[in-house]
Amino acid sequence: MPTTLNTDHFWMPFTANRQFKSKPRLLVAASGMHYTTDDGRQILDGTAGLWCTNAGHCHPKIVEAIQQQAAKMDFAPVFQMGHPLAFEAASALAAIAPEGLNRVFFCNDGSESVDTALKIALAYHRVRGDGLRTRLIGRERGYHGVGFGGIAVGGIAGNRKHFGPTLAGVDHLRHPLDIARNAFSHGLPEHGAEIADEFEQRLLALHDPATVAALIVEPVQGSTGVILPPKGYLQKLRAVCDKYGILLIFDEVITGFGRLGAPFAADYFGVMPDMICCAKGLTNASVPMGAVIVRQDIHDAFMSAAGENAIEFFHGYTYTGHPLAAAAAIATMAVYKSENLFDRAAATAPYFEQAAHSLKGLPFVKDVRNLGLVCGIELEPVAGKPGARAFDAFLKCFWEKGVLIRTTGDIIALSPPLIIEPGQIDQLFTAIGDVLKEQH
Ligand code: PLP
Repeated sequence: MPTTLNTDHFWMPFTANRQFKSKPRLLVAASGMHYTTDDGRQILDGTAGLWCTNAGHCHPKIVEAIQQQAAKMDFAPVFQMGHPLAFEAASALAAIAPEGLNRVFFCNDGSESVDTALKIALAYHRVRGDGLRTRLIGRERGYHGVGFGGIAVGGIAGNRKHFGPTLAGVDHLRHPLDIARNAFSHGLPEHGAEIADEFEQRLLALHDPATVAALIVEPVQGSTGVILPPKGYLQKLRAVCDKYGILLIFDEVITGFGRLGAPFAADYFGVMPDMICCAKGLTNASVPMGAVIVRQDIHDAFMSAAGENAIEFFHGYTYTGHPLAAAAAIATMAVYKSENLFDRAAATAPYFEQAAHSLKGLPFVKDVRNLGLVCGIELEPVAGKPGARAFDAFLKCFWEKGVLIRTTGDIIALSPPLIIEPGQIDQLFTAIGDVLKEQH
């Protein structure tokens, strides 16, 4: 670390600040699959930053687009005004979105995309004259960002406990992780689709389905440790939503943009939501941007409900469709296409899967779960010290093995850039395996 760096003032997010500042882990440059640390080491990025640099770091075409736009027009308002790039970015995103989802509301990150989608859902029912539908349903262990809407539908106690009552009328379904029956499944778990039946039971027993506006789920729950939907599970959720007129929102902030080897998880699973939340890979994380991709008729309901010259939806951000983010998104969509990165991820996935499952049988490995280029490795916790074993592995991987992994509790979560090569997959899993063998 440069001796001049003062770490006092930056209050770091989701970080053990005191622990970090006692021995900072600093990244100063990035290219392709690697970060460079402040002491000049190359770190293989096993997590695409935070599940976000899907095309690899500092892609030259994306960098160029941002640089050119920064010099041309730094900012333009999009309230009662516009600039072409925001429209072009929306069209580029609609072009890769599932059929029928083709109206795009831009925001700045995943949390805002979730809060935006929840607001669209509530307002949609209102503008149709179905104002009884005010309830929102999420899931245990769901992560939907840190806005008040997102933590309300999210299912992580730590993210909720300090912030009082958030939204009223929110309920949660159980998550479908079932290690006892599904440990070490390759791809989707066989068991657990029936957990989705609880959705309809709860609606009928507690709420009356006619009071529910939307169900929001991550198709693959990422942040709480890669929880995969059992075979048939998402289809059941969709069917119940259809039966009762409830909107289904897929939070694809992690699964969007090729993570599973298809543009969106909706495509991968063949289950169409009514809205998709996305961010991260939308600009390859180069400039913050999020979006909600909306079914056209939902959008059209707003257009036809409002009077002539009236604003149809009272929502938006100063930086909605920001020119730098829009330029980055357009360039990113072009890179995904020209480099065929979603297909590339699909082609790499079997190798990644085999490498992930090679950890089975190593000390403390309780489960390995994988799909596309995402993988969770669940470890036995150290008695009385939850999270310690995985965090120790993270530190050793970073300081001693030169690979970046991510941990949540005692689960290691991997989500490399889609450009990862087989040799780098070997390097990543060998490093993790070696670290686990060294633990006692
Ligand atoms: N939704 C999901 C599924 C996420 O994984 C995340 C972040 O990891 C978010 C929402 C929040 O995104 P952001 O951190 O950009 O606000």
